[in-house]
Amino acid sequence: MDIHPLDVLHLTCVRGGGCCHAKQIAVTPWEIARLARATGQSAAQARDRLTTAGGTRLRTEGADDGRGHAACSLLGAQGCSVHADRPLACRLFPLGRNLAEGHAVYHMPEQHRCADLCPEALAQPRRRVGEWLQQQDVADGEVAHDAYGRLVCGLLAHAGQLAESEEFAAELHVRAALDPGRRAALLPRPWFELATAPGLPELVDDPATFVLAHAERILGAVAAGFAGEPSRAALVVATVALQLGEPLGIPAQAAVGHALAARQAAVA
Ligand code: SF4
Ligand code: SF4
Repeated sequence: MDIHPLDVLHLTCVRGGGCCHAKQIAVTPWEIARLARATGQSAAQARDRLTTAGGTRLRTEGADDGRGHAACSLLGAQGCSVHADRPLACRLFPLGRNLAEGHAVYHMPEQHRCADLCPEALAQPRRRVGEWLQQQDVADGEVAHDAYGRLVCGLLAHAGQLAESEEFAAELHVRAALDPGRRAALLPRPWFELATAPGLPELVDDPATFVLAHAERILGAVAAGFAGEPSRAALVVATVALQLGEPLGIPAQAAVGHALAARQAAVA
């Protein structure tokens, strides 16, 4: 169900930590960089130690909640151990957020788990969605998500323009159907590193600049790394785009459609 910032939420989070169990928390490279700083390690180390699914989801290897739900690995005895740097998905829950035609759309699942996990949340004073978002300090995470959304669109269009052979479409469909962990394994290692841990710790407080610098590194590597091999470049660039689109909730098959439309336009 789509929801507007002026709508009233029918619950108020009581920070009971229930949703830190059995939840798939999506993370962008900018969020990995923030977690890296918060936990005192490099972005590559944070990716390897804290995430799974090709660097697109937080690990859930913490204690069981007694109902068979393992906790996020970052949940400590006093609650979230990275609270100030927690990902956007944690800040939004139980809301979700997608980009639709360039605009952000918030939505509330019909069946969310707050009532089950923290029933007292239903008895709290109610507030508007906009107030909730402000309180959760979502602005930086939203800036990063939106910037990565634009980067994904640009990379898909670029891949489509580079693609020379019919095999591109077939292989891209195959890759889109893979889970992100298996898809990431198809990227040459330097490209996986570049996609997930660009190493820009000095920009982590400025999400727009961080993503812009990340984009420049990717596009620079494309320009420098595939002389005379446009088809290989197309597949690598499209795969990087699929991986970056994963934590944004961009459906992989829709991303393929975007790349193939660009290819059609380029050959027309
Ligand atoms: S389950 Fe809902 S009420 Fe409980 S901590 Fe998570 S968001 Fe808040
Ligand atoms: S990062 Fe923090 S808020 Fe998010 S699921 Fe993990 S412990 Fe919970």
